[in-house]
Amino acid sequence: MRAFIVKKLKERKMATTATAPCSTSAASCTAPRPDLPRSSAHTQRQCAVFNTLSAELRLLIYHAALADSRRLLHFLHVTPYKGEPRPMGHWRCEDRDSPYPIWQHRCFGCWAEDNTRWHRKASHTNSDLISLLLTCRLIYSEAVEVLYAENHFSFRGARGVVKFQNLIAPPSWHALRYVHISTTFLTPMKHWKRGSLPPENYDHWESGCHALSGLRRLQLLSIDMIVWDQLNHENTDAIEHQSLIYIFGALKAIRARTFQIELNIKLPDQVKNSLGPVPFEILYHERPYDRETFPL
Ligand SMILES: [Zn+2]
Repeated sequence: MRAFIVKKLKERKMATTATAPCSTSAASCTAPRPDLPRSSAHTQRQCAVFNTLSAELRLLIYHAALADSRRLLHFLHVTPYKGEPRPMGHWRCEDRDSPYPIWQHRCFGCWAEDNTRWHRKASHTNSDLISLLLTCRLIYSEAVEVLYAENHFSFRGARGVVKFQNLIAPPSWHALRYVHISTTFLTPMKHWKRGSLPPENYDHWESGCHALSGLRRLQLLSIDMIVWDQLNHENTDAIEHQSLIYIFGALKAIRARTFQIELNIKLPDQVKNSLGPVPFEILYHERPYDRETFPL
């Protein structure tokens, strides 16, 4: 795998060097702006990173700086404010020991402490991943795939998935290999087609699943999910079957080498029969719910 990536990096570097724009080209001379030392800036020959380090060593540096397979990389700080999520951001997980659903991690920027509900701006981050990519065009072209292919991206509900897809370039989206989604549904579904998590919006869910079905390199899709009847959280028999069929039916088009769903209930046989063969495995696990921070 590494040899393949190194080969691709070398090919990309050769292509980038070969097609680097020349400051004397006709196109670049048409704009009325001062001359810039473009030739020295674009070839990168004076940079020790490219002159002295092999592509393989540079790749190791990119991995060390951008990737961490042990900690989730949370995206989309959906901290609803006046009905709308705040801007996109990223936060490397610092709440791995939390017993609550992952979407309730304080990593997403919302938590309760001393009877006060705290919010952190989405623009704040504990993991400055973008700076390295913005160093220069050559580093970006070499390293950007490491960022998207080697991290475990964590989304707060399906809306996070859709927002993320709309934000990044298609090649980056299709580079994703490890995806985690955390969400909570209330049933019956007809009452929950507005707003955003909590609880999950059924329309967002369908859109998010459709987006994920287009990923062809997905190695892992992991979902932690709670499903309750809106009036009686304790009574699993009260959960509307049609809602369950909708939720899990939307996932059937997604393909991942490992596809696991952690669920707080056991699916009724009638629902299983309606779904037919499915590409995922359901693991029963009931997480506590942080009602102080996220009242329903
Ligand atoms: Zn976290």
